Amino acid sequence: MAQVIADRRDVDFVLYEQFDAEALCGHAAYADFNRKTFDLIVDEARQLAVKEILPTLAAGDRAGLVFEDGQVRVPDCFRRPYKLFVEGEWTALTADPGLGGQGLPFLVAQAVTDYQLGANYAFTLFGFGCVGAGEMIEIFGSEEQKRLFLKKMYTGQWAGTMVLTEPEAGSDVGALTTSARRQPDGTYLISGSKIFISGGEHDLTENIIHPVLARIEGAPAGTKGISLFIVPKIWVNPDGTLGEPNDVVCTGIEEKMGIHASPTCSLAFGGKGQCRGLLLGEENRGMKVMFRMMNAARLLVGAIGFTSASAAYLYALNYARERRQGRDLEKTFEPDAPQVPIIRHPDVRRMLMWMKVHVEGMRSLVYYGALLIDKIKCAADDAERAHFQGLLDLLTPVIKAYCTDRGFEVCSEAVQVYGGYGYTREYPVEQLLRDVRIASIYEGTNGIQAMDLLGRKIGMQKGQVFMNFMGEVNRIVARARAIESLADLADKVEKALNRLGETAMHLGQTAMSEQFRAAFAHATPFQEVMGDVVMAWMLLWRAVVAGPQLETLLADLDEDARREKIARHKNAAFYHGQILSARYFINSLLPVTHGKMDAILATETAVVDMPEAGFGG
Ligand SMILES: Cc1cc2nc3c(=O)[nH]c(=O)nc-3n(C[C@H](O)[C@H](O)[C@H](O)COP(=O)(O)OP(=O)(O)OC[C@H]3O[C@@H](n4cnc5c(N)ncnc54)[C@H](O)[C@@H]3O)c2cc1C
Repeated sequence: MAQVIADRRDVDFVLYEQFDAEALCGHAAYADFNRKTFDLIVDEARQLAVKEILPTLAAGDRAGLVFEDGQVRVPDCFRRPYKLFVEGEWTALTADPGLGGQGLPFLVAQAVTDYQLGANYAFTLFGFGCVGAGEMIEIFGSEEQKRLFLKKMYTGQWAGTMVLTEPEAGSDVGALTTSARRQPDGTYLISGSKIFISGGEHDLTENIIHPVLARIEGAPAGTKGISLFIVPKIWVNPDGTLGEPNDVVCTGIEEKMGIHASPTCSLAFGGKGQCRGLLLGEENRGMKVMFRMMNAARLLVGAIGFTSASAAYLYALNYARERRQGRDLEKTFEPDAPQVPIIRHPDVRRMLMWMKVHVEGMRSLVYYGALLIDKIKCAADDAERAHFQGLLDLLTPVIKAYCTDRGFEVCSEAVQVYGGYGYTREYPVEQLLRDVRIASIYEGTNGIQAMDLLGRKIGMQKGQVFMNFMGEVNRIVARARAIESLADLADKVEKALNRLGETAMHLGQTAMSEQFRAAFAHATPFQEVMGDVVMAWMLLWRAVVAGPQLETLLADLDEDARREKIARHKNAAFYHGQILSARYFINSLLPVTHGKMDAILATETAVVDMPEAGFGG
């Protein structure tokens, strides 16, 4: 059967051959696992995703949500897979087993996530919301808060949300006006309206735990005066049983372009003056706590971009192998020649190749982000920990923004491969395209990510973190140079990397000069070129791993036999495909990145020079 959602061979390649997941088992934290258990978990995740979650993608989109009397009903087709999700303990894969988690390495959990998100992320996020909110309670909560909430959240029995946005406080979180008043019993009375809250109200779980950003009365303006509160939909009694409804009312849900089965809710807290919250962490330090969740969520949203692309690519590939149109180029003028599958046409192959290299590069990048979290957890000392943390901090905006922007473009290209059918609801790619669009917007728009990259990340530790990143890329360049057939590609990646370093330096300095507005007008282009160079790094890395494997498979064969083996032997075809992916990206796409870097280095100021009237309208 054709592969759907994610190519298992590629998942295994990244897990075991590129990133050596088995080596993680040598660390005490993961000593209970081995390759066999990893494989079993990924197999089961794939089964659940394909058999139970994937069928909810179109069905959930068609059924949509029902909003009645302040309550939201999810599509009925979600109930069985959610029950299986909870029973199979698929929610808190990486959390401590003592707290209801599985203790799995983040790298391997990423492979599980690959299938779960790719099958229907509007569904899967119900389960993942529990964990994101739970993690903040695990790290910053009191013992009492952990006892009351953690297990129920990690096991998916209670859902979790993330409650920041208000009508006047979107990207500008510091402008929020939701307030909190301290009560004699230590709780806080919460009052305010929030909008756009994913999973803010639904009937999939018996309770929903809202982490709510609010300002304690009298606190300073801006982000410095924001605190974070645990606000349950149903109050939780000290013995853990459910109490009264907590005056959290859903006042509406959005009609959206996509993710029709994911409730995006307006919530009124304390309309009757009876909404109680528990302070999480310290007063006025809410953003620090929330940033913990936001960083994890940014990696997750990057994964949404990539997994949507992965699914769209496989659909398009399968379709291109079956759909017959036109004749082979060399038989264009032979009307009796048979129609051929569209995958035979060079222009369709170009689209598929473009999608393939981005899906593969993004899989490696997203998994690399997960590996960095494992490396931070397993670090031998503080210096090593700081090294990996720096890399993760630097790459987080790139993972979020690049994978969501490219993810959307890959889905769009999939529609193109299908032709007119791709634009219809009969085929899945139009939904993937609609559903993934929000990923570039929420969790900090991609423009805000670019400002973070330019304004904070590339200058971290006086540029040392960026230098460390360049060092990591150069390690792969050196390995590629040692393989004769890859030496030329290695030179090109090195050249692009050095140019990226020069561009970062130039833009960083411009950002601190009088021309800072022009610098920030180039923040998004910079983020994009950094993403391109990261793709080249990841694809070269893949080629470095695949090259010697291919040579072993083809050893002692003459040219014809090599060609024959590449055409027929699955592994030979896969490894050969890796080398061609690297060649295509580095030789055909990376030169365009050089052009984009030229433009950034020239720092044209027209964007900021334009008077508002000049925009017309
Ligand atoms: C489906 C959906 C689900 C959501 N889920 C949640 C959720 O669960 N919890 C939650 O709290 N929120 C959620 N959101 C809200 C989401 O995070 C915000 O929509 C997003 O952060 C952008 O805020 P905004 O819509 O007010 O846009 P604005 O902040 O008004 O931004 C508009 C444009 O201006 C740009 N911009 C704004 N400020 C700046 C600046 N300083 N510099 C440069 N450019 C800037 C932005 O990049 C964007 O392009 C969700 C939204 C949607 C649509």
